[in-house]
Amino acid sequence: MNITTARRIVVKIGSALLVDEVTAAPRAAWLAGVAADIADLRARGAEVVLVSSGAIALARRVLNLTQPKLRLEEKQAAAAVGQIRLASAWSAALGAHGINAAQILLTLEDSEDRRRYLNARATIGTLLGLGCVPVINENDTVATAEIRFGDNDRLAARVAAMISADVLVLLSDIDGLYTADPKRDPSAQHLAVVERLTPEIMAMGGDPPPGYSSGGMRTKLIAAEVATRAGCAMAIALGTVERPLRALADGGRCTWFSSAEEGRSARKRWIGGSMGALGVLTIDAGAARALGRGSSLLPAGVTAVAGSFHRGDPVSIRDASGTEIARGLVAYDAADAARIAGHRSETLEQILGWRGRDEMVHRDDLVVSGEQRP
Ligand code: GLU
Repeated sequence: MNITTARRIVVKIGSALLVDEVTAAPRAAWLAGVAADIADLRARGAEVVLVSSGAIALARRVLNLTQPKLRLEEKQAAAAVGQIRLASAWSAALGAHGINAAQILLTLEDSEDRRRYLNARATIGTLLGLGCVPVINENDTVATAEIRFGDNDRLAARVAAMISADVLVLLSDIDGLYTADPKRDPSAQHLAVVERLTPEIMAMGGDPPPGYSSGGMRTKLIAAEVATRAGCAMAIALGTVERPLRALADGGRCTWFSSAEEGRSARKRWIGGSMGALGVLTIDAGAARALGRGSSLLPAGVTAVAGSFHRGDPVSIRDASGTEIARGLVAYDAADAARIAGHRSETLEQILGWRGRDEMVHRDDLVVSGEQRP
């Protein structure tokens, strides 16, 4: 796996890389290098999403909150001050390449509640379509202990899964995973590729680091589980160098975690198999042929809607004789689906009063009966 061939890349950047230890300000020259790398990747046609920490670290000094351990409410207050600085640092660095930075703050609930998940996914997709680089962080000011991701390694993995990224890069102060902590054990060996996250590999994460620092190898391995299971390869690469993504693209030392075997088709199996459908969409012969060719299901091809379902729920897609030909996750609630059935995508906004997806069931969310692979 290599980032030069990736279509959609999520890059996670930790506070230690981004914030100057002495001045407690953003490391502008380093950020400029990362922004140049991102501009290069985009020029090759890749879409890039950043998950950037640093909000709390950028505000500690300003607010005189320099004690090693902050209370939750102090972290939340610091994040409120620092997030503005963080966002403006990215906006300046990316703006120098004519790229618009777009700030997105997420909480754990946004990745667990299906509607919020779909909304976040759609917005990120729209921003990418508009040529922006979404810059994502946890919404620390409202995330209480129970609803925190807590660390941006995991947040980045959830984001990568959410937007079907093919590569997640965790930029770190270390160039990958070692069989033991190389700072303590001179016999520790670097691993260039991890094919499978066995219990033995997971044990290499060790204990969480002390103090505020929320990352460490442990959360990176948890992130690897989330990402690779979703069909996304992950790299842990050295971020302390100038132009770290270029270094990775040039074959710099790192650890690649292969995406779980057929992650995508596993998802398709899940859609097609185990779920009980909550509704039925009957479609015409033209739409049935289009599904067979791997297209999305458009509202125009739907002749009837039955059942009670919400956006994101599994539905059965049947032909006029009632034979199931596909299953999928529907993009509209039952009532809206019934209103737009039979109508062309251009007219949906007029009918609904708002602009939803063009597809009734997107092809990524669809599995045609008998289909083994996407
Ligand atoms: N969201 C936190 C911040 O921006 C960082 C979390 C992390 O370090 O993983 O300060």
